[in-house]
Amino acid sequence: MPGARRVIKLPFTEKQMQCPHCRATLTIPTVMGTITLSSRRCPKCGKDFVIENDVPRKPDAQMKKPSGSARAARAGKRKSKSGV
Ligand SMILES: [Zn+2]
Repeated sequence: MPGARRVIKLPFTEKQMQCPHCRATLTIPTVMGTITLSSRRCPKCGKDFVIENDVPRKPDAQMKKPSGSARAARAGKRKSKSGV
């Protein structure tokens, strides 16, 4: 066969891990034997997590700030009884 090209295939493996946030089983494709450090985003809950030595964990630095929902304490509706 002239011009037959060799397709180089990487040792491609898929690892199954659990999302540290929602516990969803995720399939992580990797060409490494061991995922020493990799950051991923869970497609289920959309949160970021870190894989360290094949162990999924939540990121140390939590970027999320507590949402400052400063709700103005509104006075409740006045009850107007009309005894007619
Ligand atoms: Zn998740």
